[in-house]
Amino acid sequence: MNKSHAAGIWFLAVAWFLVSVPARGFAADLAATETAAMEPAELLSTYVQIPSVSGEEKEAGEFFAQYCRDQGLHVHVFTDEPDSYNFAASLYPLEYGKPNIVFMTHIDVVPPGEPEGWTYPAFSGKIADGKVWGRGAIDNKAMGVMQVFAIKQFVELAQEQDLPYNVSLLAVSGEETGGDKGARIITEYFLEELNPAVVYGEGGAGITGLIGAAPDKAVFGVEVTQKRRMFLEASSQVQASGHGSVPRDHYSTRDLVKATSALLEAKPKITVSPIVIQALGLLAEHERGIMKRVMQRIDFYGPLFGRLVRSEPLIASMLTNTITLTSLTSSEGAYNQIPSRARAVFDCRLLPETDQEAFIAHVKRIVEPYKVEIRVLESSPASPVSPQGMFYDAMQESLYEVFDDAVVVPFMFVAINDNRFFRRQGIPAYGLLPAIMPEELMETIHYFDERFPIAALDKGIEVYVSLITRLLEAAMPARDITRDT
Ligand SMILES: [Zn+2]
Repeated sequence: MNKSHAAGIWFLAVAWFLVSVPARGFAADLAATETAAMEPAELLSTYVQIPSVSGEEKEAGEFFAQYCRDQGLHVHVFTDEPDSYNFAASLYPLEYGKPNIVFMTHIDVVPPGEPEGWTYPAFSGKIADGKVWGRGAIDNKAMGVMQVFAIKQFVELAQEQDLPYNVSLLAVSGEETGGDKGARIITEYFLEELNPAVVYGEGGAGITGLIGAAPDKAVFGVEVTQKRRMFLEASSQVQASGHGSVPRDHYSTRDLVKATSALLEAKPKITVSPIVIQALGLLAEHERGIMKRVMQRIDFYGPLFGRLVRSEPLIASMLTNTITLTSLTSSEGAYNQIPSRARAVFDCRLLPETDQEAFIAHVKRIVEPYKVEIRVLESSPASPVSPQGMFYDAMQESLYEVFDDAVVVPFMFVAINDNRFFRRQGIPAYGLLPAIMPEELMETIHYFDERFPIAALDKGIEVYVSLITRLLEAAMPARDITRDT
C-alpha cells in the first residue's frame, strides 16, 4: 500500500466518523442500500426498536423519514421538535399542489409498562412465532409500514406519467396524547400545503366472531365518524365546614358523592345512530333467526331491550352517551374535619348527533338537588360523518379484493383519534387497519406483548396498493395503470 492510498483510507475513515457520529442513532446506523432492501417485517422490527413514547418521537420519526427518502419519496418535514416531529413522504413534492391521497399514521406509542409483563422486551422488535413483537407493533407502526410499502410501488409510475393525484404518507406525533403535537398542527398550519383530498388513518380493523351465524367471517369496520369527548367537573364548596362530630345536612363531600351517584345511576337514553342502523343492517344479511330480525330493526328493538343494551359495555357505548367517573378528590385536613371542597371529574362520550348544550342541561337536572356546580373542562367540537362516496367505496372494494369472504361496514369509533381533525375541516377521513386481528392480538394494544402478524403485513400492503390503483384509475379512466412491483 503506497502512501497516498493510506492517506486516502485514513481520509475516508475520518469522513465516515464525522458523518456518522453526530447523528449516531438508528437512522445513521442503516445505510440507504440496507434499508432499501428491507422486507416489511424487518422494517417494522427496526422501527419498533426505536422507542417513541409520546413526547419522544423524533428519533423514530427521522429513521422513518430517511427510509422514505431512500425509497425515492419526497419527504417534507413540517415540524422538527423532539416532541413534535411531523412529516409527509410523497410521490410528488407538495409544492406541485396536486390533490393528495393521504395515508396517516402516528409515530408515537404509549409507555410499555412493567418490563415483567413482556415475553420479549418491549422495544426488542423481536421476530418470533410469525410476528413482530413490541410496543407500537400494532398501534400504529405496522400501518405506517404497510402504507409506505404500498406508496413506494408507484414511484416509477409517478415519474413516467403526470398522475392526477399526489399520494402521501403523513406521519404525525402525539396521537396518543390527543393530537395537539401532530394532527392538530397539520390541520391548523399546513393543510393547504398538504392539500388532502382524503385521509386514510387508523380506526377500525378486521374482527372475527361478530356474526353469530358465521363466526369466522371477518368484519371490517371502516370508521366514518366518532363520538365526541367532553370532560365535566362537578364541584361542591360549602363554607360551613366544621367538626365531624356534628354532621350537617349539606357538606361538600356528602353532596358531591350524592350527585355523583345520581349521575352514575341515571339510565342513559338509547339513541340508535344512522351509522349503527346501517352497519347492523349489513351484518344482519349474514345472520339467522331472531338475531337477524333484531339487527335489521335495531332502531326499534334497541330502545325496547334497554336493560340488555345498557348491561353490555360495548353495545352501550355505541348506543348511549356514556359518563365515567375518572377522578374524585377533596381537600384533606384532620380526620375529624369536614372538608370545604370536593371535586369529581367525568369523562363523557357523546354520540355524534347529541346536542352538547342539551346534554349539559340534562346533567344539571340530574344533580340539581345536591348543590354542586357543573363546569365543562374540555370539549371537542361536533363530529362530522364522512360520506360513503368514492373514497369509501374504493376502500371497500379493495378490502373485498384481498379478503373475498369479508364484510365491510361503516363504523362509529367510540374513542377519539386524529381523523377528527380532518373531518372538522371538511376532509373525508376513513379509519381502518386493513388486517384481520384476532381478539387475543387486539387485547395487546396498549397492553403487554403487543405483536403484529407478518402475513398480515403483506395483505395490508395489497389492500393499500389496490386502493391507490382504484383511485388513480377512477381519475384517469382512459389510461391503464400498470404498477411497478
Ligand atoms: Zn393508534
